[in-house]
Parts: sequence; C-alpha cells; structure tokens
Amino acid sequence: MPTTTELYAVDRNVYAFRCPECGALYYPAPMVCRKCRNRRDPSVTVYPDFEKVPLGGPCRLLTWTRIYALPEGIDRPSLAFGVVEFTNGIRAVGVLMTEKPKTGALLDARAGLVRELVGRDCYGLQLFDPSP
Ligand SMILES: [Zn+2]
Repeated sequence: MPTTTELYAVDRNVYAFRCPECGALYYPAPMVCRKCRNRRDPSVTVYPDFEKVPLGGPCRLLTWTRIYALPEGIDRPSLAFGVVEFTNGIRAVGVLMTEKPKTGALLDARAGLVRELVGRDCYGLQLFDPSP
C-alpha cells in the first residue's frame, strides 16, 4: 500500500507564519505571538494555526560563512550559508548559490533542494544573485 508521502506532492516551499489575530509575521513560527499573546496550534484542535506565507524573493545579505565539515547528503566540498533580511523584516538562513558572496548585497531567495538523504529530500532557501 502506498504511503501518503508517495501519494501527495511534496511541498517544496518555505513559509513565514502570520498571526491571525494581529497580523505579525514570523519565521520560524512561535507557539505564542509575541505581540498579542495569541496561541498557535499546528494541530488546529484548540486554536487556529498561523497563516502560511510563502517566503522568497528580494532580500539583503546580512552576513555569511562557508562550512567545510558538512553532514551527509550534501555532495559538495563546501557550502556557503547566509542570513538574509526580506523587505517585510523577516530574517532567514539560506544556502548561497553565488560565486562570491558579499555582505550587504541584494539577492533573490527561492525554495530549492538543499540536502538529499536516503528516501527524503530536504528543501530550503537558496540565495541567488538577482536576475538582470
Ligand atoms: Zn498576534
């Protein structure tokens, strides 16, 4: 019998989460909104879950580093990670896909495959030079 992961398409997007009470945006999602103390319930049993807002698009590189000791599933000698800030103020970590990362540079974040494990692919943010 096929499993649910085999039946349904994998959601490859990365999401920020919006509080349904006050509209505050978070990434990652907290269990309690810091602004209005509204509770989040991912099981939607007692409280509604926060609204998922796709994360991506124009962002600015705040800082970055290159890592040489990588875990399994990353088939490269090294990987550059960066912290970016989006125009809505959300900050997130992503894999730098640029040749020479530069702090302060404008980038374009897109969801993509960041790690391949046996039977499971991991999706996250990839940071590209903005398209001309
Ligand atoms: Zn709130």
